[in-house]
Amino acid sequence: MLKLSHVNKTFGETPVLKDLSTEFPEQQTTVVLGPSGSGKSTMLRSLNLLERPESGIYDCDDLQIDFAKPITSKTTLEVRQRTEMVFQSFNLFPHFSVLQNVIEGPVHVLHQSKDAATKEALTLLDSVGLLDKADAYPVELSGGQSQRVAIARSLAMHPQYILLDEPTSALDPELELEVLKVLLAIHDQNQSMIIVTHNMAFAQRVANKILFIENGDALYDGPTDGFFHSTNDRIKSFIDSMT
Ligand code: ADP
Ligand code: MG
Repeated sequence: MLKLSHVNKTFGETPVLKDLSTEFPEQQTTVVLGPSGSGKSTMLRSLNLLERPESGIYDCDDLQIDFAKPITSKTTLEVRQRTEMVFQSFNLFPHFSVLQNVIEGPVHVLHQSKDAATKEALTLLDSVGLLDKADAYPVELSGGQSQRVAIARSLAMHPQYILLDEPTSALDPELELEVLKVLLAIHDQNQSMIIVTHNMAFAQRVANKILFIENGDALYDGPTDGFFHSTNDRIKSFIDSMT
Protein backbone atom coordinates (compact mmCIF):
# COMPACT_ATOMS: atom_id res chain seq x y z
CA MET A 1 0.00 0.00 0.00
CA LEU A 2 1.11 3.53 -0.81
CA LYS A 3 1.59 5.70 2.24
CA LEU A 4 2.90 9.15 3.14
CA SER A 5 4.13 9.97 6.63
CA HIS A 6 4.87 13.46 7.97
CA VAL A 7 5.51 14.98 4.57
CA ASN A 8 6.58 18.63 4.32
CA LYS A 9 6.98 20.65 1.15
CA THR A 10 7.63 24.38 0.79
CA PHE A 11 7.78 26.56 -2.29
CA GLY A 12 10.19 29.37 -1.39
CA GLU A 13 9.00 30.56 2.00
CA THR A 14 5.51 29.10 1.64
CA PRO A 15 4.73 25.78 3.31
CA VAL A 16 2.42 23.86 0.98
CA LEU A 17 2.33 20.40 2.56
CA LYS A 18 2.46 20.48 6.37
CA ASP A 19 3.28 17.27 8.15
CA LEU A 20 0.85 15.42 5.89
CA SER A 21 0.28 11.75 6.68
CA THR A 22 -2.16 9.51 4.84
CA GLU A 23 -2.47 6.23 3.03
CA PHE A 24 -4.01 5.10 -0.23
CA PRO A 25 -5.55 1.63 0.02
CA GLU A 26 -4.88 -0.76 -2.81
CA GLN A 27 -7.62 -1.78 -5.23
CA GLN A 28 -9.63 1.18 -4.03
CA THR A 29 -10.28 4.72 -5.18
CA THR A 30 -9.17 7.59 -2.99
CA VAL A 31 -10.66 10.94 -3.91
CA VAL A 32 -8.74 14.04 -2.90
CA LEU A 33 -10.86 17.12 -2.27
CA GLY A 34 -10.05 20.60 -1.04
CA PRO A 35 -10.08 24.26 -1.96
CA SER A 36 -7.90 25.62 -4.74
CA GLY A 37 -4.32 26.11 -3.60
CA SER A 38 -4.58 23.69 -0.69
CA GLY A 39 -1.77 21.43 -1.94
CA LYS A 40 -3.69 18.66 -3.74
CA SER A 41 -1.61 18.74 -6.93
CA THR A 42 1.61 19.08 -4.96
CA MET A 43 0.75 15.96 -2.98
CA LEU A 44 -0.24 14.00 -6.09
CA ARG A 45 2.91 15.09 -7.93
CA SER A 46 4.98 14.07 -4.91
CA LEU A 47 3.57 10.54 -5.21
CA ASN A 48 5.10 10.40 -8.68
CA LEU A 49 8.24 12.30 -7.63
CA LEU A 50 7.42 15.19 -9.95
CA GLU A 51 7.76 17.24 -6.77
CA ARG A 52 10.33 16.59 -4.08
CA PRO A 53 9.17 17.23 -0.52
CA GLU A 54 11.92 18.32 1.91
CA SER A 55 11.04 15.74 4.52
CA GLY A 56 8.77 12.82 5.26
CA ILE A 57 8.58 9.15 4.37
CA TYR A 58 7.10 7.56 1.24
CA ASP A 59 6.23 3.88 1.53
CA CYS A 60 4.99 1.61 -1.19
CA ASP A 61 5.14 -2.01 -0.09
CA ASP A 62 8.84 -2.96 -0.07
CA LEU A 63 9.94 0.45 -1.34
CA GLN A 64 10.71 3.23 1.11
CA ILE A 65 11.92 6.76 0.43
CA ASP A 66 13.13 9.23 3.02
CA PHE A 67 12.52 12.57 1.35
CA ALA A 68 15.25 14.17 3.47
CA LYS A 69 17.83 11.97 1.71
CA PRO A 70 18.90 11.81 -1.94
CA ILE A 71 16.74 9.61 -4.19
CA THR A 72 18.54 7.36 -6.67
CA SER A 73 17.47 7.32 -10.31
CA LYS A 74 16.70 3.61 -9.91
CA THR A 75 14.20 4.42 -7.15
CA THR A 76 12.69 7.25 -9.19
CA LEU A 77 12.19 4.87 -12.10
CA GLU A 78 10.63 2.28 -9.82
CA VAL A 79 8.20 4.84 -8.36
CA ARG A 80 7.21 6.02 -11.84
CA GLN A 81 6.49 2.45 -12.90
CA ARG A 82 4.25 1.95 -9.89
CA THR A 83 2.39 5.23 -10.28
CA GLU A 84 1.12 6.60 -13.58
CA MET A 85 -0.05 10.21 -13.79
CA VAL A 86 -3.01 11.39 -15.90
CA PHE A 87 -3.01 15.16 -16.33
CA GLN A 88 -5.81 17.68 -16.73
CA SER A 89 -4.39 18.61 -20.15
CA PHE A 90 -4.12 15.02 -21.50
CA ASN A 91 -0.48 15.41 -22.71
CA LEU A 92 -0.79 13.10 -25.73
CA PHE A 93 2.08 13.03 -28.23
CA PRO A 94 0.61 15.15 -31.08
CA HIS A 95 2.68 13.53 -33.85
CA PHE A 96 1.65 9.99 -32.83
CA SER A 97 -1.62 8.28 -33.69
CA VAL A 98 -3.89 7.19 -30.86
CA LEU A 99 -2.57 3.62 -31.11
CA GLN A 100 1.05 4.81 -31.15
CA ASN A 101 0.34 6.93 -28.07
CA VAL A 102 -0.88 3.88 -26.18
CA ILE A 103 1.93 1.48 -27.21
CA GLU A 104 4.81 3.93 -26.81
CA GLY A 105 5.37 3.23 -23.09
CA PRO A 106 4.76 -0.53 -23.19
CA VAL A 107 7.22 -0.95 -26.10
CA HIS A 108 9.95 1.49 -25.06
CA VAL A 109 9.74 1.38 -21.28
CA LEU A 110 8.32 -2.06 -20.51
CA HIS A 111 10.04 -3.64 -23.56
CA GLN A 112 6.93 -5.46 -24.72
CA SER A 113 6.90 -6.66 -28.32
CA LYS A 114 5.08 -4.35 -30.69
CA ASP A 115 2.56 -7.08 -31.51
CA ALA A 116 1.72 -7.81 -27.87
CA ALA A 117 1.53 -4.10 -27.03
CA THR A 118 -0.73 -3.44 -30.03
CA LYS A 119 -3.05 -6.29 -29.11
CA GLU A 120 -3.46 -5.00 -25.58
CA ALA A 121 -3.75 -1.38 -26.72
CA LEU A 122 -6.65 -2.27 -29.01
CA THR A 123 -8.40 -4.03 -26.13
CA LEU A 124 -7.89 -0.99 -23.91
CA LEU A 125 -9.08 1.41 -26.61
CA ASP A 126 -12.15 -0.75 -27.00
CA SER A 127 -12.77 -0.57 -23.24
CA VAL A 128 -12.70 3.24 -23.32
CA GLY A 129 -14.96 3.27 -26.40
CA LEU A 130 -12.32 4.44 -28.89
CA LEU A 131 -11.38 1.42 -30.97
CA ASP A 132 -12.52 3.27 -34.09
CA LYS A 133 -10.07 6.10 -33.34
CA ALA A 134 -6.94 3.92 -33.16
CA ASP A 135 -5.49 5.51 -36.30
CA ALA A 136 -6.66 9.06 -35.59
CA TYR A 137 -4.30 11.80 -34.41
CA PRO A 138 -4.83 13.76 -31.19
CA VAL A 139 -5.80 16.90 -33.10
CA GLU A 140 -8.81 15.03 -34.50
CA LEU A 141 -10.14 14.12 -31.03
CA SER A 142 -12.47 15.91 -28.66
CA GLY A 143 -11.19 16.69 -25.17
CA GLY A 144 -13.17 13.80 -23.74
CA GLN A 145 -11.76 11.41 -26.32
CA SER A 146 -8.23 12.68 -25.68
CA GLN A 147 -8.60 12.09 -21.97
CA ARG A 148 -9.92 8.58 -22.56
CA VAL A 149 -6.86 7.85 -24.70
CA ALA A 150 -4.67 9.20 -21.89
CA ILE A 151 -6.43 6.87 -19.46
CA ALA A 152 -5.99 3.87 -21.80
CA ARG A 153 -2.33 4.82 -22.15
CA SER A 154 -1.87 4.86 -18.39
CA LEU A 155 -3.59 1.46 -18.02
CA ALA A 156 -1.28 -0.01 -20.67
CA MET A 157 1.63 0.59 -18.29
CA HIS A 158 0.03 -1.64 -15.63
CA PRO A 159 0.81 0.73 -12.78
CA GLN A 160 -0.05 -0.17 -9.23
CA TYR A 161 -1.75 3.24 -8.88
CA ILE A 162 -3.18 5.64 -11.43
CA LEU A 163 -2.99 9.26 -10.29
CA LEU A 164 -5.49 11.65 -11.88
CA ASP A 165 -5.25 15.40 -11.30
CA GLU A 166 -8.60 17.01 -12.13
CA PRO A 167 -8.99 14.74 -15.17
CA THR A 168 -12.21 16.37 -16.34
CA SER A 169 -11.84 20.01 -15.38
CA ALA A 170 -10.93 21.03 -18.95
CA LEU A 171 -14.07 19.38 -20.36
CA ASP A 172 -17.64 20.41 -21.05
CA PRO A 173 -20.18 18.57 -18.88
CA GLU A 174 -21.20 16.19 -21.66
CA LEU A 175 -17.62 15.17 -22.42
CA GLU A 176 -16.88 15.02 -18.70
CA LEU A 177 -19.57 12.39 -18.29
CA GLU A 178 -18.01 10.02 -20.83
CA VAL A 179 -14.67 10.23 -19.00
CA LEU A 180 -16.28 9.72 -15.58
CA LYS A 181 -18.06 6.61 -16.89
CA VAL A 182 -14.70 5.18 -17.96
CA LEU A 183 -13.22 5.94 -14.54
CA LEU A 184 -16.16 4.24 -12.82
CA ALA A 185 -15.61 1.14 -14.95
CA ILE A 186 -11.91 1.10 -14.04
CA HIS A 187 -12.85 1.52 -10.38
CA ASP A 188 -15.20 -1.47 -10.70
CA GLN A 189 -12.21 -3.54 -11.86
CA ASN A 190 -10.44 -2.69 -8.59
CA GLN A 191 -7.67 -0.64 -10.19
CA SER A 192 -6.07 1.44 -7.43
CA MET A 193 -6.68 5.11 -8.18
CA ILE A 194 -6.10 8.47 -6.55
CA ILE A 195 -8.26 11.18 -8.09
CA VAL A 196 -8.26 14.92 -7.45
CA THR A 197 -11.63 16.28 -8.52
CA HIS A 198 -14.12 19.06 -7.86
CA ASN A 199 -17.04 16.92 -9.00
CA MET A 200 -18.75 16.09 -5.71
CA ALA A 201 -21.38 13.76 -7.17
CA PHE A 202 -18.66 11.74 -8.86
CA ALA A 203 -16.55 11.76 -5.68
CA GLN A 204 -19.45 10.42 -3.65
CA ARG A 205 -20.11 7.72 -6.21
CA VAL A 206 -16.58 6.49 -6.88
CA ALA A 207 -14.60 7.07 -3.69
CA ASN A 208 -13.82 4.36 -1.17
CA LYS A 209 -12.19 7.05 0.90
CA ILE A 210 -11.97 10.82 0.92
CA LEU A 211 -8.89 12.84 1.71
CA PHE A 212 -9.86 16.47 2.31
CA ILE A 213 -6.83 18.74 2.26
CA GLU A 214 -6.86 22.28 3.53
CA ASN A 215 -3.76 24.41 3.91
CA GLY A 216 -1.52 21.47 3.20
CA ASP A 217 -2.83 19.10 5.81
CA ALA A 218 -5.56 16.46 6.02
CA LEU A 219 -8.70 17.88 7.60
CA TYR A 220 -10.59 14.67 6.85
CA ASP A 221 -9.18 11.29 5.97
CA GLY A 222 -11.66 8.44 6.04
CA PRO A 223 -14.74 6.76 4.57
CA THR A 224 -16.76 8.54 1.90
CA ASP A 225 -20.04 8.42 3.81
CA GLY A 226 -18.48 9.95 6.89
CA PHE A 227 -17.26 12.89 4.82
CA PHE A 228 -20.57 13.60 3.14
CA HIS A 229 -22.41 13.32 6.45
CA SER A 230 -19.81 15.21 8.43
CA THR A 231 -20.95 17.59 11.15
CA ASN A 232 -17.70 19.56 10.87
CA ASP A 233 -18.64 23.14 9.91
CA ARG A 234 -15.69 23.62 7.57
CA ILE A 235 -16.43 20.39 5.69
CA LYS A 236 -20.15 21.17 5.51
CA SER A 237 -19.51 24.63 4.09
CA PHE A 238 -17.03 23.20 1.56
CA ILE A 239 -19.59 20.64 0.36
CA ASP A 240 -22.27 23.35 0.19
CA SER A 241 -20.00 25.62 -1.86
CA MET A 242 -19.30 22.83 -4.35
CA THR A 243 -22.83 21.56 -4.94
P1 ADP B 1 -4.16 22.67 -5.47
O1 ADP B 1 -3.82 21.59 -6.45
O2 ADP B 1 -4.84 22.16 -4.24
O3 ADP B 1 -4.93 23.78 -6.10
P2 ADP B 1 -1.32 23.17 -5.51
O4 ADP B 1 -0.68 21.97 -4.94
O5 ADP B 1 -1.28 23.35 -6.97
O6 ADP B 1 -2.79 23.31 -4.94
O7 ADP B 1 -0.63 24.47 -4.89
C1 ADP B 1 -0.51 24.68 -3.50
C2 ADP B 1 0.23 25.99 -3.27
O8 ADP B 1 1.56 25.87 -3.76
C3 ADP B 1 -0.40 27.17 -3.97
O9 ADP B 1 -0.27 28.28 -3.13
C4 ADP B 1 0.48 27.34 -5.20
O10 ADP B 1 0.49 28.67 -5.61
C5 ADP B 1 1.82 26.88 -4.70
N1 ADP B 1 2.64 26.29 -5.77
C6 ADP B 1 2.33 25.17 -6.48
N2 ADP B 1 3.31 24.88 -7.35
C7 ADP B 1 4.26 25.83 -7.20
C8 ADP B 1 5.54 26.09 -7.81
N3 ADP B 1 6.03 25.27 -8.76
N4 ADP B 1 6.22 27.16 -7.39
C9 ADP B 1 5.75 27.96 -6.41
N5 ADP B 1 4.58 27.79 -5.80
C10 ADP B 1 3.83 26.74 -6.18
MG1 MG C 1 -4.31 21.37 -8.44
